[in-house]
Amino acid sequence: MTNQEPAVLNKMMPEFQKSSVRIKNPTRVEETLCGLIKGGAAKLQIITDFDMTLSRFSYKGKRCPTSHNIIDNCKLVTDECRKKLLQLKEQYYAIEVNPGLTVEEKYPHMVEWYSKSHSLIVEQGIPKAKIKEIVEESDVMLKEGYEDFFDKLKQYNIPVFIFSAGIGDVLEEVLRQAGVYHPNIKVVSNFMDFDENGILKGFKGELIHVFNKHDGALKNTDYFIQLKDNSNIILLGDSEGDLKMADGVANVEHILKIGYLNDKVDELLEKYMDSYDIVLVKEESLEVANSILQKIL
Ligand code: C5P
Ligand code: MG
Repeated sequence: MTNQEPAVLNKMMPEFQKSSVRIKNPTRVEETLCGLIKGGAAKLQIITDFDMTLSRFSYKGKRCPTSHNIIDNCKLVTDECRKKLLQLKEQYYAIEVNPGLTVEEKYPHMVEWYSKSHSLIVEQGIPKAKIKEIVEESDVMLKEGYEDFFDKLKQYNIPVFIFSAGIGDVLEEVLRQAGVYHPNIKVVSNFMDFDENGILKGFKGELIHVFNKHDGALKNTDYFIQLKDNSNIILLGDSEGDLKMADGVANVEHILKIGYLNDKVDELLEKYMDSYDIVLVKEESLEVANSILQKIL
């Protein structure tokens, strides 16, 4: 925490004192929190990323899989294909988190990554019926405190928009198996397209990648118009691209942006602190979000 030490943040919310919590402008955060608390459940909506935001980045020093990696690593993918997918990941993930490149510079590389990796995955002819087993056998983990997070949001019927550049079918299955895919959740992501025999033949609709969430958000204006009275937003993300997830919202009164900074911390901290209200450094829990929900609901 820098500057002054506002009362709500420190006295009422001890979770904010953890060293992983970084806030550039505590006064603004406090004002936004007060606005969110005042608006209560009636005005609230959640807009969140999935991979490395709701899911863990690492566990006991080992990297956890993204929804794509769940497929990359599964036993239905040949070793040769897996090798190619992992090579692509190494090459393009380095670009995704390269602190020296702008979003505009990274953008075409992400399109290339998705187009190459999706073609490779499609070649493997994965059956829809196997997705459940693939997820069961994976190392995916949701962030600590996910039960409280999703249960509280369900209890108060708070709309949750999960906006992911991952694979929709996979992340829905992760949520289902965790027992938290409640009716208040809407998922917008890259959904698999299966042929009449239930074999993967492609992906539906326009591609959502890490840096085009602005366009995706604007395609979902119908959803946000329905929620025009839910003008208080908590946004959760881990990438610079996630800051654009609320661009389609019809009516914003207060927005609190919480950003997980998982990788390249030294190089990216300042940039994240400039754009996210609250930055959580190498944090594998939903504690801060849960403490905020506790105050609002
Ligand atoms: O849910 P979210 O929007 O975070 O999903 C996107 C993430 O998926 C990116 O951060 C990217 O690193 C990862 N990805 C991957 N394999 C791909 C494409 C994207 O692991 N082929
Ligand atoms: Mg993410």
